[in-house]
Amino acid sequence: MQTEKVIIIGSGPAGLTAAIYTARAQLNPLVITGMQVGGQIAITHEVENYPGFFSAEQTPTGPELVEIMQKQAEHFGARFEYDEVVAVDFSQGSPFTVKTYGKEYTAEAVIVTVGASPRRLDVPGETEYVGRGVSYCGTCDGFFFRGKDVVVVGGGDSALEEGIFLTRFANKVELIHRRDALRGGPSLQQRAFTNEKMSFVWDTVVEEIVANGVVTGVKVKNVKTGAASFMKTDGVFIFVGHYPNSKFLEGQVELDEHGYVITDELMRTSAPGVFAAGEIQDPVYRQIATSVGQGTAAAMQCQRWLSDRE
Ligand code: NAP
Repeated sequence: MQTEKVIIIGSGPAGLTAAIYTARAQLNPLVITGMQVGGQIAITHEVENYPGFFSAEQTPTGPELVEIMQKQAEHFGARFEYDEVVAVDFSQGSPFTVKTYGKEYTAEAVIVTVGASPRRLDVPGETEYVGRGVSYCGTCDGFFFRGKDVVVVGGGDSALEEGIFLTRFANKVELIHRRDALRGGPSLQQRAFTNEKMSFVWDTVVEEIVANGVVTGVKVKNVKTGAASFMKTDGVFIFVGHYPNSKFLEGQVELDEHGYVITDELMRTSAPGVFAAGEIQDPVYRQIATSVGQGTAAAMQCQRWLSDRE
């Protein structure tokens, strides 16, 4: 088995940037993409805040940005394997073992950029009706709700952005938030408040998703008054945060109490030669721009670490 110089696990903005930088440093990186090339931006409709990509006519879509970044990485020599990493062994030091569903690899250095996944509400009906009215992605499923009524759960940027997007298709979008103030940024708040199709249900939590083959409504409770009620709806879009995709890293690198990979300011994990970047190690900023910066830093530190060994 040939030992790779660098394996990058994950292909979101952090992974694709690390691929561009390590490829330009002649490290011939291998990117193991995971289930979705591009990670979360691949399912983001519009990207308004990534510097350098804007036109008054059309804001770029997430998939467009991913395509450009991947082409750029390939142009400089990065290779892509469309597979998912299921296990790693960092315990013996470099070279490290990386296992996917289909293959086993060894690598002198590894950059982990596997990101995070949408958190679930954990209420009855949620898991059962995914794809039959329950969704975690407006960009993917909005089209199926043309002329219908939907609810969005959550009060952060994702809930606002996706809620606004869903108004393109849905007749009505009711945003249910557990508090009386939104967490999302002011510009998205303003767009949501001025959107005629959007309305807000404050201080309210969803307790059950009700269905009759397909979703028909949600049982909700006002957390201030305790009053329970039923809201009729055709779709429930859930945006209540994320959790890090670090299951396969347990016992291999140090994780914090929420499962995020702990890195130092040089993007080093607790395993020398293993670096991490993007949302897998960043529970705070989680922006495309910050992930790109972290991917850059991880690639540069990885290159230094490899050349110091030679
Ligand atoms: P988030 O900022 O963590 O917000 C999650 C929202 O869900 C919060 O409003 C939270 O309520 C609510 N929530 C959490 N658990 C809940 C539960 N069990 N039941 C009901 N509500 C629950 O997550 P996000 O919106 O996915 O954003 C993640 C990160 O990506 C953020 O840093 C965000 O700025 C960034 N992002 C940016 C953009 C953009 O800039 N355009 C777009 C999308 C995401 P509380 O407010 O009460 O905690």
